[in-house]
Amino acid sequence: MRSELYIDGKWLKPLKGGTFDVVNPATEEVIHKAPAATADDVDLAVAAARRAFDKDGWPRFSGVERAAYLRAIADGIRNRQAEIARLEVIDNGKPFPEADWDVADAAGCFDFYAGLAEQLDNNVEEPIALPDARFTSKAVREPIGVAGAIIPWNYPLLMAAWKVAPALAAGCTVVLKPAEQTSLSALELAAIADEVNLPAGVLNVVTGAGTVVGQAIIDHKGVDKLAFTGSGPVGSKIMAAAARDIKRVSLELGGKSPFVVFDDADIEEAVEWIMFGIFWNQGQVCSATSRVLVQDGIYARLLQRLVEETKRITIGNGLDDSILLGPLVSKRQYDQVLGAVERARSAGATIACGGGRPEGFDKGYYVEPTILTNVPLDSDAWREEIFGPVVCIRPFASEEEAVALANDSRFGLAAAVMSRDEVRAERVAAAFRAGIVWINCSQPTFTEAPWGGYKESGIGRELGRWGLENYLETKQITRFVGEEPWGWYIKPAETTR
Ligand code: ADP
Repeated sequence: MRSELYIDGKWLKPLKGGTFDVVNPATEEVIHKAPAATADDVDLAVAAARRAFDKDGWPRFSGVERAAYLRAIADGIRNRQAEIARLEVIDNGKPFPEADWDVADAAGCFDFYAGLAEQLDNNVEEPIALPDARFTSKAVREPIGVAGAIIPWNYPLLMAAWKVAPALAAGCTVVLKPAEQTSLSALELAAIADEVNLPAGVLNVVTGAGTVVGQAIIDHKGVDKLAFTGSGPVGSKIMAAAARDIKRVSLELGGKSPFVVFDDADIEEAVEWIMFGIFWNQGQVCSATSRVLVQDGIYARLLQRLVEETKRITIGNGLDDSILLGPLVSKRQYDQVLGAVERARSAGATIACGGGRPEGFDKGYYVEPTILTNVPLDSDAWREEIFGPVVCIRPFASEEEAVALANDSRFGLAAAVMSRDEVRAERVAAAFRAGIVWINCSQPTFTEAPWGGYKESGIGRELGRWGLENYLETKQITRFVGEEPWGWYIKPAETTR
């Protein structure tokens, strides 16, 4: 576990020397003191990133050269996959197999963007057909500059990869701030970048409080682009800060994503995907399908099976084999989730199972997987993100009603539909107002496919080629190839005289 910031290719103590506690959410023990940066450290990091971008030529490396670094980082992650996954478990609480999956995914993300960096060499120039033969024109893609990446705690290394990999592939340099709840793996990523001799200043990692370090990044004049994943209120602040300086901005925020199950769906398959959609990562997933709508004919049977299977979920320390649900990330999150369940109960919801702290745990931020029924449509439980293992489920009669209920939200990150009727599933997928739609599943996420939200769930898209676009500017270069100048002010006849 690292105790220093990674700035300009060096490990540095924060200038003001601060630290903050790293707490293992399964045991509530302080397991480390992480470096608490301040605005002065952010100044150093941005200066290093600026120099690496403006003077040292990271954007002028060929795509093939940048790809080689990205592939080396991917290998570096894979070489230490189990070790980093273990860090994620003691930092975030998630079950080890999930962390292991995330870390492999993060490595895959670096490989994927290495491929796109290589393609950039060939695709960077696009000829533009003009209606005037005296001119030729081309569009050129160039990196935006210094990217400030601010990430959440639910997928610590993976969220870093989703931003750092496309940014570096595009030729941007990065100042990365992990969430204060989970800083360990971002510092390991810096260590891997260091091992593969990524040029100094290309990736800088500053850890500390959002209101201090995050705020300093978003306010910094030397940052050209802000890439953020996290809560809506902070996303709003980031967009406001970006507006002040006309920084480029991409935001991936929360959701209250619906899952519509029609009565021709297989109940066992539906239960599996519903559980995956809300209990994976303790439900701390922005795209979690937390509002489940089930057609009348199978509602009672499906609910019964869902409750039976949910009660069988094994809960415990993420390092223990055979557990399926770990603790929530922090005391704050634990209090928020239990508070939301309490408010749902007061609003009239029925707790079909769970709803509290599991028995037998005197330490750790554990919350039972919870199913809520009879949730009023105007209650917070139905409308607001809970970000925990809590699902609301209700019956519907018609396709029209299901789509209306699904879309009645200020969010639009994800939505899922299950039906054996392919035509209907496609029709509902088309009707969803959401950036990510799953048919006959929920949550499978691929680096190749675009990721992001409609409405208040965000702006811009990550992953795939869309993720690279986030870090590119477009420049037109137009050349005059005519015989004689334009001739507006100085007539051709006059010049020849
Ligand atoms: P959560 O409420 O789930 O912790 P946040 O949106 O607060 O989610 O956190 C996501 C990221 O935003 C974290 O890295 C956090 O430190 C950062 N952050 C929080 N407040 C600010 C802020 N005012 N400016 C910039 N970043 C911030």
